[in-house]
Amino acid sequence: MYLESIDLSFIQPCTTNSNRIRIKGSFSRDVEELFPYLNTYLKTAIYNKEGKTLTFNYSQKIIIMYKYEVAISKLLNETDAFETLDYLKEIINECDSKRNEIIPNYDMRKLPSPIDIYKYLPKINCGKCGVSTCLAFATKLINGSFKLSRCVHMNEAGNEKNKEEIETILLMLGYEL
Ligand code: SF4
Repeated sequence: MYLESIDLSFIQPCTTNSNRIRIKGSFSRDVEELFPYLNTYLKTAIYNKEGKTLTFNYSQKIIIMYKYEVAISKLLNETDAFETLDYLKEIINECDSKRNEIIPNYDMRKLPSPIDIYKYLPKINCGKCGVSTCLAFATKLINGSFKLSRCVHMNEAGNEKNKEEIETILLMLGYEL
């Protein structure tokens, strides 16, 4: 078997939704070589070759794979966590067993644009984040040079849903929140 186990190593409330949990798991081996194959095999995957991450959705959950570990957010509870880890192990082993039939894809399938993030920002161009417009801030988030927390207005009441939408996009890009 290619991957023997994924050990649960960390559980915390989700940063995007306090009713859900996020976890980390450790792979029993380095799985990075499989990322280009999983990028083809999983139709929603985003492979970030530079960042060495592969991210994909499973139901509402966001799974970010690194070389030796995985981070999963938006899980319902611990049972869901263990079921999702089992699912991931199965997918990884299935993909490996079909490796000879799969053409590896080294490209990032879909990069969200700054506009995809801008539409959820306050759009008041106050400049408090260090750039003069919300659109410039969105560009910084997409390229990973700024954290969302630099926008002082995102934690204001009424912005909860928009914040969650942006955090989901950033997670899909493989960024830590
Ligand atoms: S702090 Fe927020 S609202 Fe102000 S410019 Fe930056 S992104 Fe826009």
